[in-house]
Amino acid sequence: MEQITVPAYAKINLALDVLGKRSDGYHEVQMVMQTISLRDTVTVSLSEEITLTSNSEDIPLGQENLAYRAAAMLQRVTGCRKGARIHIDKHIPVAAGLAGGSSNAAAVLLSLNRLWELDLPVGYLAELGSRLGSDVPFCVVGGTCLATGRGERITMLPQVPRLWLVLVNPGFAVATAKVYQEFSPAEVVSRPDVSVMIKAIEKRDRTGIINNMENVLESSTFALYPRVREVKEELAQSGAEKVLMCGSGPTVFAVVGDQEQAYKLKTRLQGKYPFVTVAETI
Ligand code: ATP
Repeated sequence: MEQITVPAYAKINLALDVLGKRSDGYHEVQMVMQTISLRDTVTVSLSEEITLTSNSEDIPLGQENLAYRAAAMLQRVTGCRKGARIHIDKHIPVAAGLAGGSSNAAAVLLSLNRLWELDLPVGYLAELGSRLGSDVPFCVVGGTCLATGRGERITMLPQVPRLWLVLVNPGFAVATAKVYQEFSPAEVVSRPDVSVMIKAIEKRDRTGIINNMENVLESSTFALYPRVREVKEELAQSGAEKVLMCGSGPTVFAVVGDQEQAYKLKTRLQGKYPFVTVAETI
């Protein structure tokens, strides 16, 4: 086996709550994370050294790329002497709240584990991933999960009934760290009840899931970037069942009834925003 190509999926948060600030500077969070069909493609092939290329001009191609760092870490912790040529075919908007970088890193960990014949368990890959970023363990596991701690502690949940989504990105980057710095519990308008959300997921109660979708980071992102609030309000006029910000933003997703409605809404919104796409939960 000389080359492997894998999908690297984006995520949304069905629920995102911040419980408080920790002594290590991170925030304690409680999130229900969900893999969606929007994806990059990562190809790894055997090579002498680690190198990285991409079709995207929006990501760094050097050692600061999370995918590169994942490969370098795997080499370091296993003592493996093999290298890899990594190519990222990027479709997930960058710094968009969709965990694109984390997803690329997870895809590299999973595919190099095979290419380099390391045979490491997925749980260990997830643990290695947590050293790269809080969202990487979820991206290693995928599906529907509860994430706690700083987001790196993952518990798998049953698959949700399929949801059709329209994602809108207003075309600028949001710095996640800045959104957390700005976060103030007093400014939160509505917070999710994560245990109610989990019960709805366990009962496959689509309406219950949708009614419990909330993201407390909306308050700080909206204060820093008022355009994101406008996008949410514009989408709320579109007949969607629910509209919510992804992670720390600025991407916003709308939940609609079926695939046909999703593509109809996409057609209506295209041209109004720099990035509009249809995705489904997987
Ligand atoms: P985060 O919440 O971690 O900021 P995000 O989903 O909002 O995640 P990403 O697309 O992961 O955003 O990008 C965050 C930052 O990571 C960007 O500034 C980007 O330059 C950097 N980065 C490093 N490697 C990658 C990668 N492989 N793909 C995307 N961004 C990357």
